[in-house]
Amino acid sequence: MAGQRVRTRFAPSPTGYLHVGGLRTALYNYLFAKRMNGEFVIRIEDTDQSRKVEDAEKNLISSLEWAGIIADESPMHGGNYGPYVQSQRLDLYKKYCQQLLDDKNAYYCFATPEELEENRQLQLKQGLQPKYNRKWLPEDMGGNMPESEIKKKLKEGVPYVIRMKVPDYVSVWFEDVIRGPIEFDSATIDDQVLMKSDGFPTYHFASVIDDHLMEFTHIIRGEEWLPSMPKHLLLYEFFGWEPPKFAHLPLLLNPDRSKLSKRQGDVAVEDYIRKGYSSEAIVNFVALLGWNEGEGSEQEVFSMDELIERFSLERVGKAGAVFNVEKLSWLEKQYIKTRPVDVIVEGIKPVLDEELAKRSPEMPVERITSDDYLAKVVELMRERVAFEHEFVTFSSYFFFEPETYEEKTVAKRWRPDMPELLGEFSKVLEASDDFTAENIEAQLKAFVAPRELKPAVLIHPLRLVASGVSFGPSLYHMLEVLGKETVLRRIARGIERIRLPEP
Ligand code: GLU
Repeated sequence: MAGQRVRTRFAPSPTGYLHVGGLRTALYNYLFAKRMNGEFVIRIEDTDQSRKVEDAEKNLISSLEWAGIIADESPMHGGNYGPYVQSQRLDLYKKYCQQLLDDKNAYYCFATPEELEENRQLQLKQGLQPKYNRKWLPEDMGGNMPESEIKKKLKEGVPYVIRMKVPDYVSVWFEDVIRGPIEFDSATIDDQVLMKSDGFPTYHFASVIDDHLMEFTHIIRGEEWLPSMPKHLLLYEFFGWEPPKFAHLPLLLNPDRSKLSKRQGDVAVEDYIRKGYSSEAIVNFVALLGWNEGEGSEQEVFSMDELIERFSLERVGKAGAVFNVEKLSWLEKQYIKTRPVDVIVEGIKPVLDEELAKRSPEMPVERITSDDYLAKVVELMRERVAFEHEFVTFSSYFFFEPETYEEKTVAKRWRPDMPELLGEFSKVLEASDDFTAENIEAQLKAFVAPRELKPAVLIHPLRLVASGVSFGPSLYHMLEVLGKETVLRRIARGIERIRLPEP
């Protein structure tokens, strides 16, 4: 393996959506391969036909591509293999299984599911760890089953599975890249089924065969696969193959440190995409679930290129990583702050179109959908939102007339003489050609001073008529962006529609 080019893989089963844990596994494999100038490929592990879900493969790949994780041998890179699909490789698994049978490292087992269950219950009752009882282990492999009996069953066409024979007294040892040396005692290892009665291999068998044939140098996967290691290592030994290096990633945890579950929040990458999270923030967030740059580094915002440059398996921890959605929102805000305005503008357009299909705008559509107008809204609001869609949903008043006016603000800020005051101030605004934030501010101050009023007396009601709510960006800048015509119209409408609650 020395000097060999690094090759990694992500090997999802097409049983549903891409889990955030799966995204992390894929990302670490991708980052490590890229860091080492190696190759990264995707293998679809669909040997459990009963769990196969229609479209799952397509969804997995599209979620990965959305995140920017693209396999080297995929058609997107001009390759024509990827992704590898195990159900298209059955002949290979059969061939290698035959070799294990010939070498007496595997045997036929005709036990029925009922028999196996009975055996399991019995062992549990005896306080033993359930294991196959080796009833069908042939005589010439140290068992009790005569060859003739096995031949008879095969001839009769009785369904069977093929099991590996775990040697009786060996200890299996390997060095995990993240966890260090780990040892297993063969007495605890079951005679794993390699081929199922439907002719498909099990995960354990197919993945070892493929990992070898596809020449992966590093297997990076979740901690839940650690207990499978002895079976896998024995298979490498049976074939005389040198195993790749293994790195088992720490568990993902809920904030209460239980195992990450759907019950405590979204776990499907698709859910985050649908909610408007950006791929940059998700990738950044997921990268930090188990990896850090090391002591002395305060940096938390990393682009994909920076991650590729700095990622190392040595800096992946053993301890479970807490999935903290607040951190994700924080990252999202960091990205909105620095994303180029024109990129955000393009992101807003589809959201705005959707909203426009639902309600009619107050201002001309050409104006509010223009790059220029949208860019002004972005500049003004980017400190206050985390998602692109929020430019439209949080500050809909930049596009649509307020339909209601926040009641508690009316009660608190609207004085009986407000229609008169606002009416007069509106005339001041109308008379001026300079509708900039600075000038509006100066005009407001000049308006309230001789009346011995504080600016706040007018500021709050102005915001209310202009936006319908009591919070938002700087009032004067908001008015400037809305434009003179719209502001004058909204003042007039507010005066007409806002009524003080009955005392
Ligand atoms: N198909 C397995 C999974 O769904 C792959 C495990 C591995 O990477 O070996 O997670």
